[in-house]
Amino acid sequence: MQSPSGRPLPRLAASGDSPGQPHPHATFWLLAMVATMALATAATLWWTLRQTHVLAQPHQQNDLWYVSSVHNELARVSLLARKVRAREASPQDLQERLEVLFSTLDTSGRGPHVSTRLQNALPEVAQELDNLRPLVERWSTQLAPLIAQGNGNAKAVGAISADIVRQSDALLDRLRKVVATVHLFSAQEASHARQQLSERFLVLSTVLGGLLLGTALLIGKLVRDAGLARAASRQLVLANRQLEVRVASRTRKIEEGRALLSFILNTSPSDVVLAEVESGRVHFINRPLTARLGLKAPPETLFLPDLLHDPETRERFTQAMDRYGQVDAMEALIGEHNPSWSSLSARLIEVEGQLAHLLWGFDISTHKALETQLRELATRDALSGLLNRRAFLERSTALFDHCRRHGQPCAVLMIDIDHFKHINDRHGHQTGDVAIRACAEAIGHALRDADLLGRLGGEEFAALLPHATADSATVVAERIRSAMAQMSLASPQGQPLAFTISIGVAEMAPHHSGIDPLLVDADQALYRAKATGRNKVLAYEAAIGQP
Ligand code: GH3
Ligand code: MG
Ligand code: MG
Repeated sequence: MQSPSGRPLPRLAASGDSPGQPHPHATFWLLAMVATMALATAATLWWTLRQTHVLAQPHQQNDLWYVSSVHNELARVSLLARKVRAREASPQDLQERLEVLFSTLDTSGRGPHVSTRLQNALPEVAQELDNLRPLVERWSTQLAPLIAQGNGNAKAVGAISADIVRQSDALLDRLRKVVATVHLFSAQEASHARQQLSERFLVLSTVLGGLLLGTALLIGKLVRDAGLARAASRQLVLANRQLEVRVASRTRKIEEGRALLSFILNTSPSDVVLAEVESGRVHFINRPLTARLGLKAPPETLFLPDLLHDPETRERFTQAMDRYGQVDAMEALIGEHNPSWSSLSARLIEVEGQLAHLLWGFDISTHKALETQLRELATRDALSGLLNRRAFLERSTALFDHCRRHGQPCAVLMIDIDHFKHINDRHGHQTGDVAIRACAEAIGHALRDADLLGRLGGEEFAALLPHATADSATVVAERIRSAMAQMSLASPQGQPLAFTISIGVAEMAPHHSGIDPLLVDADQALYRAKATGRNKVLAYEAAIGQP
């Protein structure tokens, strides 16, 4: 493809295999990757947060605190029991301290307790603590009635205190180990949880890294695609402008071509019209045809067959267009009021989806006039103005056939000037011509319009009278003969000129196969008229004496 200047137009890159082309599949896969990485990041974050929660679980501290509290309270109980034995503290104080210890050991939900996890991990520790509770309860139960009785039971109180001191010391030893065990266990567990947290952070970092990488790739891809789209858009704008330029140039050329064509058609001597067949809508009509139709402006609608003046020609034109879709050099009279001869060629074509007639016409009026003149010259005798021999024989043959076809009679007259040679000899050839013309005129006056008259040669004439019998034709012939006998003419030199004619008559009979035998019969009758004195009319039957 080329620009109007001839340079090849830049083309947009073909889709698919060009490196500069945005790749929608790559964007999709990058988006899918980023979405997957985001999901993975969310899952890993949740997983890591759970681990953080595990690490932050207070139960580990609770376990340690609980065991330490129990140990401390038991140590206080033990110290107070020693003081009670040494009478430095009252049994009530010991009782209260025992209640505090009991409440510390209480696992009913009010205070700290050994976690299920600890119970599962260190069952012996849990068991130790579980065993302490009934013991404290027993001490408290034993001490309560003695306190109620007052100072009289100091011995019993001392015994209980001694038992408390003895058992609690042993218990304190064990509880110290328990505290250490729980401490160690908690430390190990925290270390394990930290390690797990660290691993999960590592996974989270990896996934986050993937997410960042994917996001970066996606952003890079989107930026690149945007750049390519801008470049493509610029190319498109450029291509559109070039297209507009080409369209404008093409449109200008078309308009110039149309104007030139219109000029050519309007200045052409031929007629041109393009009109739809059905609606008659005129797409184009040139000025010569508009003028020929006597119109001031091109018509909106025109049915081409209506252009034709003669109904028979119109029918022929329509049939030819329907059958062959074209007409070539058809001679026709066009125009309604002042028709003129045209040679028409037409084509059936399709215009804007509709059938249309395209018609060219050449004015052949002059040619037709010449043709008529020539035909006239070819059929007429120059001297008399009558039909010449050939034309008379042609037309009389047709008329003879017509009469025969319709069973109508007809008759012929053979007319010859008597002693014409003498006229020529005496007055000259020119006077002879005057006589021939006068004779032709006189015969013509005596005949009807339907009769045919011709000059067969020299001073010899023939007439065909349709619907005439031998008798009626003889009457007409007699009238002609008599008119000629009475005619007074003058030669060009002014001398009087008189002459007679002889006429042979014959009526069409069944044995006449055509005009020629009939003319022969009439000629025979004429011959007999000449032979029997001239200046007379003889019918064939009468002349020959045949029936
Ligand atoms: P008939 O009575 O037996 O008919 O004798 P005719 O003299 O009329 O007949 P003929 O055939 O002997 O002579 C005819 C003459 O007519 C001969 C010829 O010179 C003359 N002729 C033929 N054509 C013309 C013509 O166009 N003009 C003139 N002036 N004479 C012609
Ligand atoms: Mg003669
Ligand atoms: Mg003659």
